[in-house]
Amino acid sequence: MSSIRPSTEIPLPSPPTSPSGSQAPLPRADGFATRAIHGWGEPDDLTGSILTPIVQAATYRQRVPGGPQAHTYSRASNPTVDALERCLGGLESAEPAVAFASGLAATHALALATLAAGDHAIVGATSYGGTLRLFRETLAPLGIRATFVDATELRAVAAAFEPRTRLVLVETPANPTLELCDIAAIARVATAARVRFAVDNTFLTPTFQRPLDLGADVTLTSTTKWIDGHNATIGGSLVTRDAEFRNRLAYLRTCVGSIQSPVQAWLTLQGVKTLPLRMERHSAVAQRIASRLEGHPALRSTRYPGLASFPQRALASRQHVGAIGEGHGGIIALDLAGGRAAAVRLARSLRIVTLAESLGSVESLLTHPATMTHASVPEGHRVACGIGPGLVRLSVGLESDVDLLDDLLRGLDGLASRSLVDEEEVARAN
Ligand SMILES: *Cc1c(COP(=O)(O)O)cnc(C)c1O
Repeated sequence: MSSIRPSTEIPLPSPPTSPSGSQAPLPRADGFATRAIHGWGEPDDLTGSILTPIVQAATYRQRVPGGPQAHTYSRASNPTVDALERCLGGLESAEPAVAFASGLAATHALALATLAAGDHAIVGATSYGGTLRLFRETLAPLGIRATFVDATELRAVAAAFEPRTRLVLVETPANPTLELCDIAAIARVATAARVRFAVDNTFLTPTFQRPLDLGADVTLTSTTKWIDGHNATIGGSLVTRDAEFRNRLAYLRTCVGSIQSPVQAWLTLQGVKTLPLRMERHSAVAQRIASRLEGHPALRSTRYPGLASFPQRALASRQHVGAIGEGHGGIIALDLAGGRAAAVRLARSLRIVTLAESLGSVESLLTHPATMTHASVPEGHRVACGIGPGLVRLSVGLESDVDLLDDLLRGLDGLASRSLVDEEEVARAN
C-alpha cells in the first residue's frame, strides 16, 4: 500500500480574480479574501503601520469623568480586539463579532444571553465534548435545562421544543463524527417557534459554510482552530446580524470578564488573513487523502463530506458552499477496525501527524476522541453518537500531501499486518 504515491503535489490555488475585472481598485470590503486581509480597518495615521497595533493597555485616559469614550477599560473593549471583531464580522456580512478568551467562553456567553433559570435549550447530541459538559455540568445546576437531540433528524429537533425553549445550538459538521444537520431546515423550525438558533461553524468557517445566510441567528466559532490556523492562540467568537443582540453579548462579556486579550486577538487577526487560502488547500488535500485511504483494510470506515460514499453527500454539497465555492474542510473521521489498540499503535507509528488535542492548524494532528476531546462525555452518550474506541479524527495540515499520505499509509499498513492478539497486547500495555 505504501508504494502508492501521488505523482505530484496539488498545485496551489490560482489567485482570486477581481470580481469586476475592471481597472478600478478593489473596494476594500468586497471579496472574501480582501475582507480577510483588510476587513479590520486601515493603517493608523500615527505610524502608518500596515498591521494594526497591539494596544496592550488595561485602561484609557478620560477627559471628562464618565464622558463618551471609545474605550474605558480593556475588560469591556480594546482597539486590537475591535480590529479582529470588525474583520470576523465582515467575513459574514454581519455586525462586528464579539471575541472571547476561548470558544467555550463564547458558548457560555451565548447561553447566558439567551437562557435563565427554568429555560430550556436544544443542543445537538454530537457536539464538541466541552459544549456538552458546559450544559450538563455548569448550566444544569443553575436550572438551565438542555435536551441533547440527534440534530441530523429534523423531526427530533422539532419534537424537542418546549414552552420555555430559548436556544437551539447545533454543530455541523459535528465534532468528531462529521455528521451534518440541515441548517436551513432547522432555521425554519426555530424561526417559527421564535427561538434563537445558533450554529457552531468551527469546522468549516465562513469560507465554506454561511449559517447566517441559511437562516441562523448566530454563528459560534472556536477561533483556536482554522481561524487562527497556527496552533498559537485560544479564542472564540460570536457573530450575528442583530445589532441589539450583539450589544447584549458584548455587555455580558464585560459582566463576566471573558474578552479576548489584545495579543491573542492580534495573532488571530494575522491568521485570518490567509484563511481562504489555507482552507482551500486543507480541503483539497483532505479530499485527496480521504479518497486514497478509503477502503484500506485497517479501516472500518472513512468519513469525509467530499467523498461520494458520505451518507449525507447531497446535503454536504448544498450546504458547504461559502465565499470561495464548495469545500468540505480539513477533518477526516477514520474508524479503525482494530479499536482503541489500533488507535494507540497508529498514533505511535506516525512521524508527521502528531497525536494532540485540537484541530485546524498548519500541523496535521490526530485525536482519539473517546479518550481525549470527548472523554468527559458519558460513555452511553458517546456510543449513541458513534464515537467508538476505534474512531480517530485527523486534522489535515499544510505539510506536503505526498509526505502526509506516505505517513498515514505506512501507519495503516502496519495495523493491517498485525494480528488481533498483538493489538490486545498493546491495549493491556496502556
Ligand atoms: C474546540 C472547539 C470548541 C471549543 O473551543 P475552545 O477554543 O477550545 O474553547 C467548540 N466547538 C468546536 C466544534 C470545537 O472544535
